[in-house]
Parts: sequence; C-alpha cells; structure tokens
Amino acid sequence: MYIRKLAVGLLAPLCLFTSLVAGGVSLDYYLPAGTDYDPKVPTPEQFLGWQPGDWHLRSDQVVAYLQAVAAVAPDRVKFEIMGYSHEHKPLVLLTITSPENHRNLEKIRLAHLALLDPSRKSSPDLAAMPVVINQGYSIHGNEPSGVNAMVVYVYHLAAARGPVITQQLQQAVILIEAQRNPDGGDRAAQWFNQHKSLSAPSADPSDREHNEAWPGGRYNHYWFDPNRDWLPLVHPEARARAELFHRWRPNVLTDHHEMASSTSFFFQPGAEGRNNPSSPAKVLELTHKIAAFHQRALDRQGALYFSEQGYDDFYPGKGSTYPDLHGSIGILFEQASARGHLMENESGTLTFAYAIRNQVLTSLSSLEAAIALRTELLALQRDFPAETAALAAKSPVRAYVFGDDNDPVRAQALVDLLALHHIEVRPLAKAVTVAGQTFKPGAAWVVPTDQGQYRLITEIFTERTQFENNVFYDVSAWNLAMAYNLPFAALDAAPATGAALTGKVAPSPGRLVGGPSDYAYLFNWNSYHAPRALLRLQKAGVLVRGLSGPPIEAVGADGTRMSFQAGAVLVPVGVQPEKAALIRSLIATIVQEDGLTVLGCATGLTPAGVDFGSASFRPLELPKVALITGQGVDAQDSGAAWYVLDQRVGLTPTLLDVAQLSRADLSRYTVICLVDGLYEAAVSESTVASLKRWVQDGGTLLLTGRSLNWAARKELASLEFAGTEEKVSAKNKTETTKAEPVKSAAVVRQPYGQSADLAALKKVAGAIFTASIDTTHPLGYGFNGDTLSLCRTDNILLKPAKSPYETPVIFTEAPLRAGYASVENQKLVANSAAVVALTAGKGVVVAMPDCPVFRGFWLGGDRLFLNAVFYGRTIKASRGESADAESD
Ligand SMILES: [Zn+2]
Repeated sequence: MYIRKLAVGLLAPLCLFTSLVAGGVSLDYYLPAGTDYDPKVPTPEQFLGWQPGDWHLRSDQVVAYLQAVAAVAPDRVKFEIMGYSHEHKPLVLLTITSPENHRNLEKIRLAHLALLDPSRKSSPDLAAMPVVINQGYSIHGNEPSGVNAMVVYVYHLAAARGPVITQQLQQAVILIEAQRNPDGGDRAAQWFNQHKSLSAPSADPSDREHNEAWPGGRYNHYWFDPNRDWLPLVHPEARARAELFHRWRPNVLTDHHEMASSTSFFFQPGAEGRNNPSSPAKVLELTHKIAAFHQRALDRQGALYFSEQGYDDFYPGKGSTYPDLHGSIGILFEQASARGHLMENESGTLTFAYAIRNQVLTSLSSLEAAIALRTELLALQRDFPAETAALAAKSPVRAYVFGDDNDPVRAQALVDLLALHHIEVRPLAKAVTVAGQTFKPGAAWVVPTDQGQYRLITEIFTERTQFENNVFYDVSAWNLAMAYNLPFAALDAAPATGAALTGKVAPSPGRLVGGPSDYAYLFNWNSYHAPRALLRLQKAGVLVRGLSGPPIEAVGADGTRMSFQAGAVLVPVGVQPEKAALIRSLIATIVQEDGLTVLGCATGLTPAGVDFGSASFRPLELPKVALITGQGVDAQDSGAAWYVLDQRVGLTPTLLDVAQLSRADLSRYTVICLVDGLYEAAVSESTVASLKRWVQDGGTLLLTGRSLNWAARKELASLEFAGTEEKVSAKNKTETTKAEPVKSAAVVRQPYGQSADLAALKKVAGAIFTASIDTTHPLGYGFNGDTLSLCRTDNILLKPAKSPYETPVIFTEAPLRAGYASVENQKLVANSAAVVALTAGKGVVVAMPDCPVFRGFWLGGDRLFLNAVFYGRTIKASRGESADAESD
C-alpha cells in the first residue's frame, strides 16, 4: 500500500511535466488532400506512437514499420533486404506496384530490360509497359528529411484508395530504397533526438542539437561519403545499389538530400553546361520536363525553391549522374536542413516537419512525372542502345586494354568492378604493344567499346583535361585504371581476345616454390596483398626482415632461382626454430589466401646480391598505428586510412582522438598518422614537443594534406612550400614586364558577380597528376613502374627536400593526366614534391600533400601509405654510407 502510494506520488508530477512535450503536426499535413486511406494499413503514428517529424527515425524503426506495412498490404508492397551496411543494418528495398503487376513482376522486369538489349529484334509496345522509378532516401545520414518523408510516402502508396492510386500503381513499378546509409543515419538520429528539448525544440543554430559531434552522420561506418561511391563501389551499400540498378535499369532514379539551413529547396536540372558529356542530350530534356512537376507541386504549397543553379551533373560516382549514363534520369533533391527539429533561418523558423513535407511532395511529383512521361522515358531507353552503338561506331577507340603481370590483384579487382557495372571484359589472347608498353595474355584484359556500356566505359578510362565549363562541384577526373595504378591503353583496333568473362575472376593462386623449409622463406613486396601477408607473420610474433638495396637472386630448396627486389620479405626459420610449425602454416595461408609466390630456401647464400645474413635485410617490427581522428580532422581522409588498414590489411589502428593526444602514451605507437585537417587549436605546444621527441626516438610521423602546413609551422618537420598562385603569377609578370614589383603585385579588378566561379577556376578539386617514384627508397618499394597517378584535391605545393635522397616521389614536368587544373596550377605542380621523407633522430616524418588512399579506391596509392606504415622505420638518413656495418 505504502509503495503504491509512493509510486502515485512520484508519477503525478512527472505527468505534469510530460504534458509540456510539444505536439507535432498531423498526418494530413503531409498527405494529398481528399485521399481515402485503408484503415488496415497502420499509420506511422499508430505504429510508432508519434507523428513523423516529432522525432528522427532510427533505422530499426524504419525497418520495423516497413515490415508492418508490407505484412498488411502484401498485394501492393513487397519487402526485401538487398544487402547489409557495414554495421549489418538491412538495406531495405520495397517494390510497390499493382497486385496484377506483382503477379507478373519478373515478366515485367525482363521486358523492361529487353528495351536496353542491343540485339532486340521486335518493337516493344511502350504503351503497355509500366515505368520503373527508383526512389532513394538520405544517402547522407544527417540529411534525414528524406528517410522520414519516405515512411509517409510509403504509407500513402500502401494505404491510399481510389482511381488515382489504382492507375498509378498499374502504370509504375516503384522501387523504394528506404535508407541508403543507415549507419550514418542512426548516428544523426541519435544525436538530434538526444539533444531535443522536450517543451519546445531549440531553434538556436548554436544549440548542441544542431551541431553534431565529429564525424557527423553524413558518412557511412568508415566515414566515406556514400554519394561519391556509385562508381568506385567500395562499400556494401553502394554494391547493393548497383545490383538493384542493373537488375531493373529504372527510368527515373531520385536521390533525396539536404543542404544548408539558410537555403530553400533545389531540384535538378542543375547549372547549365555542367553535365557529363557522355550523358544523352535527351536526359537533360526529360529532366527539365520532370522538373515542371516539382515546380507545380511546390508552387501549390507556396514553397520557395530553385533549379538550374549549382549542383553539377558531372562525376558519375554520384547518384544523380550515374543513371544519366544509362539512359535513366537521375534527379537530385536538396532540402534546406533543420539540422534537428527546429532551426532559425532567414524566413523565420524551419521545422523538421516542413522539410519532410517538401520531400513527400517531390516524392509524389516524381511519381506523377514518371507516369505522365512514361512513354517518353521508355522510348529513351528503347532508343538508347542504337544511339550508344552509333556513338561507339564513331569513336576511334575500339577497345581499352589494361593490366600487367606485376601485381594481378589490382588488375583483377578492376575486372571485378567492371563486372559490377555490367561491363563486358575479355582476357587478352595475343600480346599487344602500345607506345612501348606491352600487354601480355594472362596478365591483361580487354574492354571492347562496341557494347551497351560504351558511355560508362568512356568515362571510366577518360583522360579528359578540357571541359566545356571548368567549375566543378566534385572531382573532375576518376579514371579507374589510373586509380588502380594499372598500365592501360586505348586501342584503335580490337585485339584478339578470349571469351567474355562471366562474373568474378578467380583470384590468381599463389605458389610455394621449393617446398616447405626449415631454413628461410622469401617473398616479393609487389603484390597488393604483401602487406597483409607480412602482417600475418608480425602479428604471430614471427621475426621478419625486409630487403633494402639492389635486387638479389635466391635459390629455392629445389634449385629454382628467383629474383627479389627491394622490399622483399625474408622469414628466417632457422633462427626461430620454436616457430617452425607456425611459420609453415602461416606461409600456407599466405600462398592460399594472399596469392603470393613464396620461395622456400635451403641456403642463405645467394648467387647474386646480398646474402640473407646481410644488414641489408632490416628487421621489420609490427607496426602499431595511431590514426588521429576527431574535431578538425578530415573525416573522409582519416576514414579512408582506417578502411585500408582495417579492411584491406587486417591492421586495427588506434583511432586516437586529437583531444586525447596530449594524454596518450605515444610510446605505444610506431606510426602516428595525421591526415588532412586543422590541428592548430587542438594540439598544444607541449604535445608538439612530445611528438618531436617521439619521432627522434624512432617514430614514423605520417602527414597528409593541410597537416603539412601545421607541421611546418610547428617545426615538426622542415617542410617548405611553393608560393601561392597569386604570388607566382605576380612574379612571372615582374619578369616579363620589368615593372615595379609592388605595382605588378597590385590586385587586378574582377567582376564581383563572378567571384565564386573565378575562385572555383583556381581550385584543384580532384584532378589526376603523375609523379615519378624512386623505387629504391623504402616508400617506393613494391612499385613496378616508376610513375604513379595521384588524385589532388587541394593545391598544397610542397618543395622537394634539401637532401637529394629525401623526395622519393615527385610530380613530373608535365604532370596533369586527367581532370581540370588551370595552366598556372599545372606549372606550379610540375616538379613539386608528392612525398617527402625527412629523417629526424631515429625516426622519420613522411609528408604527402595529397591523400594517397583517396576515397578508398585509389589502390595505387595504398602502397605508398602502407610502405610508410611497414617500411617507415627502415628509412635512415642517407649520407651515402653503406648499409653493411663493415667498418665496425
Ligand atoms: Zn547530401
């Protein structure tokens, strides 16, 4: 009795306070007026207990609601899990169409795909075919009005009754990707909900609710931007999307985003003249026609919006551009963000509900447009194969060939990626030589241009450096052969090939030459998986050594001779006999899973080059990597480094928050990596001093991007930079005109109205440059050729080091390979340093102006990064002395 009384006493005031919870809008706010709804379909409120917009949906709530809707409306809504995110959250696909279409779904799909078949003979009856529309939401997790609108839209599609919806479902197959990035979405939802004031949300832009903690919800698990991954397909989310896209080849694909809170609403088309040149002209025309439907819907609501401004349609790795190259219409939507529940902006306050409503409206207007333009959209796809074939026939390029026998892993990875894009690849059957480069059967692949994916193929291998418009929203180059550091060539005649490959290429098996050994094993460092193999041994506590210096020849236990280059890994068994069995089993794994060729040796005496006991074989210790993360650090670059270490090598770095750096015991780490970021405020002077001591004691400090400038200011490394573009052009002018330096440096007046575009023209925002590598330097180990392509996304111009041995990678004389860079910028990059490695005490500072592991698909640059991790400690001050300690 007493307890009960107490409980009542406690509950009463709680109830009083909970009554202060602000109530949201009703469902009518979002839905088309006058629609009759089937009461058996649960509304979001009936299922969740609150109205859309009151709270931010978590992915598990999204999945549960959609399952509930599909369960009561199975004749309209099919629920399917098309994949899982990194955090194993379902990537849900809803297929929504009429009951009759559902019964014939596979037939409809095949008939739809037949439109795009170049060998199609009959003329399809477009009037009888439904249009296919793929609508996807919140690929950027902290742009949540999309996914929260999606539940309202799905409710409408599942529950609406009457002639309008009946006809819509007959004429359309609607593919709903409920949430394109659930991992990031959950981070954002949790943040916005946990900081919401319950009496009334705070609209103050400075409120904690509106300022997510690093890295924010935009990115996926590994802090990648998923809306840059439609082409590289690094992540499971993107791979599932690609599979769906090619399974259906939708006529329209939508991508619902958010932008700055001070803006309004944007729908494509974007800025004129900034479309990918491989897009059919008809795509832009239909994008305009579809836009009229969004315009009317938003006008009716009195909403402000804009179109034909900003947001280019250029990089095929974005959701609004990739479809365009396939005869589909990709549509980008951008809604001003409430960054939580309520936000002050220039027109008063922006509610989350308002943002959601615009996304519901444009989901509906997209469907209306797709249905109204159905036959035109289908005709675009029907005509697409012939038009593409005509383009391909006019092209001087008959095929692309790529690959070499240095490292089959990267070439096979590209073959696999092309297969995911439904691009036909064939093995080369007879050697071809182009510009001195010979491509050999067994190690090279051919992509004929005479195929349906001609447009995408052209983009994948493009070396374009001239553009109609030089202002880019994202990168201006994305050549995948360059990213994978593979030799490639455009051929003007189709070479002899084997049959088209179907599916994945079986990885090249490794080999154990000379058989198991109790003396030593040796493997080369050129294979992509060599770092992973080395780490297996290091993790198991096996002593390993790495070859520095000129190539050697070694003899296998069976007499086979093999040559080994700098970076080759020696596993001496005889000196650690207690580990002989362990080593034997690890070597078997390395051969099998890493595909390496390993030589089992019975002698340490080599016929050519140093012997196994030479000091040129330097001990390689297990790297312990601290990756600096947190506020001020570029999340994408640190995420790419994390991904490469974790997923590709199996090395778990410590994600060390920059705020923890002063308290951390640095002696735990052999490598500390600071990627691009702003470190001035976050790293104290005493921490800088600790870092200097740590390098002196033998640490490898790996710096990329703007961390170079910070490190130079802090005298962590004596890095020097070339002048800014302005300074240099002023200098050039001085030399040519002999004018007074002060006058020549004066500001040249420019039109104020063009300032944004003029600033963009000076940027280097994702262009590919060639650098020359010193393969005798530990950072150059394992590279076959002597050049590497790097993606520049900034214009940090690092001067070569003062010592002639400390600039292992340097940009070439004419470095631009693909993408846009002004002539001035090209000249500035020429002969500047791509990597500088400065020894200090026992340690080294490795500085790279560019992110070598750019977006996780720059497989060629991975090696540079991993060399710093695994071989950084072997870099010694080079004054020309011999590695062998002969004089001691
Ligand atoms: Zn976005």
